[in-house]
Amino acid sequence: MIQQVHSHPNIYRIRVDLPDNPLQYLNAYVIKGVSGNLVIDTGFNRPECKRALCQGLQELDIRLQSDTSLFITHLHADHSGLVGLFAQAGCPIYMHPVDYQYLVDSEDGSTWKAAEDNFMREGMPPAEIKTQFSNQARTFSPNPHFPVNPVHDGDCLHLAGCDLQVIHTPGHTPGLCCLYLPKEEVFFTSDHILFDITPNIQVWYHMKQALQRYLESLQKVRELPAQLALPGHREGDTSIAGRIDEIVAHHDRRLAEICHLAGLYPHSTAYDIAPHMTWSMRGKQWKDFPPTQKWFALGETLAHIEYLVDHGVLCCREEQGCRHYDLVRTET
Ligand SMILES: [Zn+2]
Ligand SMILES: [Zn+2]
Repeated sequence: MIQQVHSHPNIYRIRVDLPDNPLQYLNAYVIKGVSGNLVIDTGFNRPECKRALCQGLQELDIRLQSDTSLFITHLHADHSGLVGLFAQAGCPIYMHPVDYQYLVDSEDGSTWKAAEDNFMREGMPPAEIKTQFSNQARTFSPNPHFPVNPVHDGDCLHLAGCDLQVIHTPGHTPGLCCLYLPKEEVFFTSDHILFDITPNIQVWYHMKQALQRYLESLQKVRELPAQLALPGHREGDTSIAGRIDEIVAHHDRRLAEICHLAGLYPHSTAYDIAPHMTWSMRGKQWKDFPPTQKWFALGETLAHIEYLVDHGVLCCREEQGCRHYDLVRTET
């Protein structure tokens, strides 16, 4: 399903459904120029997404060849999964090198293994870790062997007849980049800013303090003039600053909730704390969460715990290979 979202330049959204995924669909954007095109993000590496993307491109009369470029905003498989289609056709591919390296490193499974070992230390039972092998982020990930044009913060790309500014906003992933059309004030926010769901913030092994970095990256774009904001999932809005303030307030509430729970349940693991937190899973209880959602929920809990430990609010003690957290008691 395609929808024109802007004219001069002509920008279209291809809705790529993500079956069995709470995100529901990915927004792949296409800037259709006279002498070239730009596609932003792809969908998972699975037949349903490939069909939707290819059908959308066909409706727009766009053939995959060297005058069509692909910009991958970040490493997540729902954005990068179908990069192989573009690589095979000789399309130039743009991506931040940090996220590209993560894709390469995850190919032999070592990145996932490191994450599993870490989640085990945070209290996740081995049986639950095993259920993660069917995580869509793993099964529908791209083949990382593609030539990449590395992009960095502040780069100006001239593609599809447009001047596009690259804005590096680490947090949701270490290398997430938004794109911005300064003349038209169109802001492709990817998963940095979503409007009716909150972007997931995880822990990363080569980027400490993901939540801190994310909050800084929100402030970095808060004053950006935007006539149109085009997010990676769901619908967009124009009030960037207002939405950023809501997201910041959401994380403040999460931090306060964890402090409260750490006081209530001393010496807990992150896995002990996570089930007591407020999750918007349509009334489901923790025990009924799908395995993938438990994984993301524990990662999100950990990102907040990491922030609180770094700010001296919580302390961590490792005993028998398992980390436990307590409020730091200040002497009065
Ligand atoms: Zn993402
Ligand atoms: Zn996404």
